[in-house]
Amino acid sequence: MTGGCPSDGEFVFGKKWTCPVCEKEFKNPTVKSSKARMIGSDMDLRPVYEKINPLKYEVVLCPHCGYSALERYFSTVTQVQKQLIQSNICMAYKPREEKETFSYEDGFMRYKMALINTMAKQAYDSEKAYVCLKTAWMLRAWRESLDDEPEKQQKLAAQEEEFLKNAKEGFTQANIKEDYPLCGMDETTIDYLLAALSSHFGEYETAMKLVSGIIANREAGPRIKDRARDLKEEIVRQSKD
Ligand SMILES: [Zn+2]
Repeated sequence: MTGGCPSDGEFVFGKKWTCPVCEKEFKNPTVKSSKARMIGSDMDLRPVYEKINPLKYEVVLCPHCGYSALERYFSTVTQVQKQLIQSNICMAYKPREEKETFSYEDGFMRYKMALINTMAKQAYDSEKAYVCLKTAWMLRAWRESLDDEPEKQQKLAAQEEEFLKNAKEGFTQANIKEDYPLCGMDETTIDYLLAALSSHFGEYETAMKLVSGIIANREAGPRIKDRARDLKEEIVRQSKD
């Protein structure tokens, strides 16, 4: 075993999976839940962890056929999707060396594979958007982990923007076309997320409308309301600049 991120070794274990596409078994490195300690989150809900970043490990990739997806989606493929993946992914897939831990670069490659798979299997907009969002979050963590590598950091920032933009567009579409919950998130959480992403891209009017809706919503929980109030302050501050 080479590469990966050796310091993650004590935090991960090989979780057993059976691939729903090729039906072979494999082990996918997974963070032990007791080991991932969340110490905060960003405005757009990116969780920030101590010591290990579980975002690198959230894509499950079958090393035999290349089928990959976020953990919550991996085992559910329809018969039609299975055929689409077989002809669009598996036929061209060259098995790679399996690693026990992942560097950010490995993680990024896996997210790209997951995204290609969502397109191949014609997944819902929400699933594509969720992969893009998590990719952006992971790229941000990667950038923050670097010291004094301005060129690389700039490149990662540009890639993060691209994925955030696709996430915003995907969730906007999903919000119109799909039923809630989306990717395990309720409507208030998606509204909040869209507000945060809109604000990030300078679309303050859209962002303001969404946060005001959350604050006024009697059914919204206190935590998301608090976040919406913080975001509202941030939008006011940014739109003045
Ligand atoms: Zn497989």
